[in-house]
Amino acid sequence: MRLTVLGTASHYPTPEAACSGYLLEHGRAAVWVDAGPGSLAELQRHRSPADLDALWISHAHADHTADLLPLYYALAFGDLPPRPPLPLLGPADLRGRLVGFLGPGAGPELDRVFAFASLADRRSLRIGGLELDWEAVPHDVPAWALRARAGDASLVYTGDATLSPGLVAFAGGCDLLLSEAGADRPDGSHLTPEDAGALAADARAGRLLLTHLALGLDPAEAVRRAAGNYDGPIAPARPGDVVSVGPVSEAVPTVEA
Ligand SMILES: [Zn+2]
Repeated sequence: MRLTVLGTASHYPTPEAACSGYLLEHGRAAVWVDAGPGSLAELQRHRSPADLDALWISHAHADHTADLLPLYYALAFGDLPPRPPLPLLGPADLRGRLVGFLGPGAGPELDRVFAFASLADRRSLRIGGLELDWEAVPHDVPAWALRARAGDASLVYTGDATLSPGLVAFAGGCDLLLSEAGADRPDGSHLTPEDAGALAADARAGRLLLTHLALGLDPAEAVRRAAGNYDGPIAPARPGDVVSVGPVSEAVPTVEA
């Protein structure tokens, strides 16, 4: 299983980094995870939006969803090959939010482009040898964490969350924990770097990749802070990183704390 980091920024994209976006691939299966602003452009460095099997959205905040709008334009009106509706798994109100922005007449066209499915209504998705399941996590809107498995390899992505026993259990034993660290200090809706380290330790994760860092938080400092709670390898996620997920011997670039 391969993870490609498309974007890591919090709140708004910068010239260096799009907002949250990740590409998960295994064999011919490809799932785009979170569509933060700027991530559609990054996605196209690796794969055409017409060549995805599904799109998985952790929650409805704009820094995880805004590129659904240009994706809709690309698939509905762009020069891409025609394709069946793209399965779009996310919060139940995602379709309504898009109609609210695009206008009341957009519903039928949206349904031609996307096959909407609510994360609250189903628990898993299997595409070839890639298995996805998800768990609700505490955030200030309905939000989910994602677990992806392919053979013996497993990855857990926190989405945006606070630390909870449920999240620790959900992440248990994963090879790679992709954790947000969007809070410099506890803010009641995001993980701090210390929380991410504690989550990785308590879940016995094989390695930790930090993403969605709080504004102004230096990546090396975030790694140092997480390392206070976790002894395993830690690195900051950077756009363009391609990480092979599996046994610990499969190298991920690591920044020494
Ligand atoms: Zn959020």
